[in-house]
Amino acid sequence: LQSDRQTYVIANWKMNKNLNETAEFFQKINSSQDVSVVICPPAQLLYPAHLMIKQSGKPIGLGGQNVHWADKGAYTGESSGSMLRDIGCEYVIIGHSERRQYSYEDDELVNKKVLHAIKSELTPIICIGETLGQKNALQTEQVLEKQLCGALKDIDSSNFILAYEPVWAIGTGQSATAELAGQTHAYIRSILKKIIGEKAEGISILYGGSANESNAADFSAMPDIDGVLVGGASLNAQSFDGIINVF
Ligand code: PGA
Repeated sequence: LQSDRQTYVIANWKMNKNLNETAEFFQKINSSQDVSVVICPPAQLLYPAHLMIKQSGKPIGLGGQNVHWADKGAYTGESSGSMLRDIGCEYVIIGHSERRQYSYEDDELVNKKVLHAIKSELTPIICIGETLGQKNALQTEQVLEKQLCGALKDIDSSNFILAYEPVWAIGTGQSATAELAGQTHAYIRSILKKIIGEKAEGISILYGGSANESNAADFSAMPDIDGVLVGGASLNAQSFDGIINVF
């Protein structure tokens, strides 16, 4: 039974692409009526990407890869939610494992950013996931529960997307099996129910971690997997189209 949850195929370009490559991508990419397609380019490409999407007339959403938690002020190097809105973003990735690892973002900071994004009328794409060490120590469930409760503290909105991204699967070519991801998504939804009640049924939970054209169909077949967050395989328009077409 398919739910009426929105399905998303979201590209996380990370720190990749220049202006020319971005233009080329938007010329080549197809969009879909069946799923919401969202591209998250690096910060300096957001506004040109917004213009390119507008010009193409394709129904593609735009998202940032990071946001600050304050509206404006003396925060060198940061961008606020209203600034992202102003240049055409509707989404923002928050709590990606690379930011948790390299920029020391913890659950408390992730929560401040999520609150700020919602206040700024951006839809946060909140990333959670266990490391290989945590998986091997059988701590996956407790890690996910802690990250989820932390990220959603004091949130009274259901305008957010979750992405389950096991850290051991990101950029490794070793995706989780659809079965494991499906089970984990069902677990995440059960925790979400404890936090926000029945509204949990309406929240899209995406899988991320070496998702590609070949494995996307397996993920899409799982009832609790509502799309994918794609890194490496989102950089090539043809590969990314292949994933969009599966959903
Ligand atoms: P990957 O990255 O698809 O390259 O594994 C996914 C992500 O980090 O969002």
